[in-house]
Amino acid sequence: MDKNCSKCNSIMVEAVIDSFPIRIYKADVKPTAETMSSINPCYVCSNCGYIDFYVENVDKFK
Ligand SMILES: [Zn+2]
Repeated sequence: MDKNCSKCNSIMVEAVIDSFPIRIYKADVKPTAETMSSINPCYVCSNCGYIDFYVENVDKFK
């Protein structure tokens, strides 16, 4: 299943962020285990360098 770059439409490669996992949470909540999500997966475009991030637990942003 190939993923295409939203900027240049080239094939994107799944990547790993160093210092993984980076955690992300909504700006208006306290950072706790309940509110934070990892970033996974992460893709890099091998043509233009664009990086596409997804949160692992999208429900925490609803
Ligand atoms: Zn691209």
